[in-house]
Amino acid sequence: MLNRIYLDNNATTFLDQQVKEKLHFLLEKPLGNPSSIHALGQVSKGLLVEARRTIASYFQATTLNQIIFTSSGTEGAYLSIKGLLKDKPPKHIIASNIEHPCVNQLLESFQKQGVKITFLPVGLEGAIHIQDLKKALEVPADLITIMGANNETGVKNDLTAIAKIALEHQVPLVVDGVALLGKDKVTLPKGISAMFFSGHKIHALPGCGFIYLAPSTKLKPMISGTQEFGLRGGTENLLGIISLAEALKVFFSQEAEILNKIKGLRDHLEQSLLSIPGISVNGSGERVSNTTNLYFEGLDGETFLIALDQAGVAVSLGSACSSGAIEPSKVLLNMGFSRQRAEASLRMSLSRFNTLEEINQAIVIISSLYQKKRKMV
Ligand code: PLP
Repeated sequence: MLNRIYLDNNATTFLDQQVKEKLHFLLEKPLGNPSSIHALGQVSKGLLVEARRTIASYFQATTLNQIIFTSSGTEGAYLSIKGLLKDKPPKHIIASNIEHPCVNQLLESFQKQGVKITFLPVGLEGAIHIQDLKKALEVPADLITIMGANNETGVKNDLTAIAKIALEHQVPLVVDGVALLGKDKVTLPKGISAMFFSGHKIHALPGCGFIYLAPSTKLKPMISGTQEFGLRGGTENLLGIISLAEALKVFFSQEAEILNKIKGLRDHLEQSLLSIPGISVNGSGERVSNTTNLYFEGLDGETFLIALDQAGVAVSLGSACSSGAIEPSKVLLNMGFSRQRAEASLRMSLSRFNTLEEINQAIVIISSLYQKKRKMV
């Protein structure tokens, strides 16, 4: 088995050791249903409340019902967006033109029903422009939904400025926080109504996520039931939820060190590769600590990705379409890059588990393979 260098942490992350230990410990325990009245149920309920309390404290939530557990970022997007729109058919929704498919596909389904969707351009920089948001709001809007950072380029949106405008216009604002949490400081300026996150992107288990709700936010339930304050029926994924709280404990106890480490490694990787003629970065806006999206001039990204994988380096390409064929990244295309550039670009996303030794190895492998392959075309 090759020694793998994993640079695909925006796709998913490895479980944190402290999370594993907590899960191993709990797997040996009899755990009841948190809704059961008996003692074992109450133990589970206690664990659930403790996890919610831990997360609420990190996000300065004053009441526990501001943290709603979900199965994923995708479910968080659905519950936040549909839940805020309630039963009233929306007329106008504003988003960026590079939202994650979990938001984009929902918006496209609204569009098919005749809802006006303004997709704000992000340009080569990769972030929306506040002027464009202001202009879009000249047509009254029911909702703004914007990602905190893009998962393909790592470029951040100015959430403080966006939230201020949403507040001024009294328009609910949903933020996709999936590519931000664990990779950058998360702030929750007044004006954000809901922000959703995903467990498997922050070294917790897959199958869990959560939404932070502003104190005044009221959502319409997506699945009726008694759990999650009536917003999401279904027996809770207790182990997933506990893994989330534990992963956040690890992160927030060393936030500055972790972010510095990841950024240091990402910058080292990026700077080293940029010194090679033919390689450049996609997205000039301010970025989270862990992501670099690089254009390898003269190469086919898919072929290069496979070659890198065979050499032990796992990176990623644009999204795979449903037929399994690789499509050039819609994010890069919508930013205004050519199809040829989008097809020759790869994303590398790091985590705190990467080491300097690995990154140095990756630099040697990527640069030598690139130079070799370029000579062949
Ligand atoms: N939003 C962003 C920015 C993402 O990168 C992802 C996953 O890749 C999601 C949302 C969806 O999260 P999940 O995989 O938990 O459904």
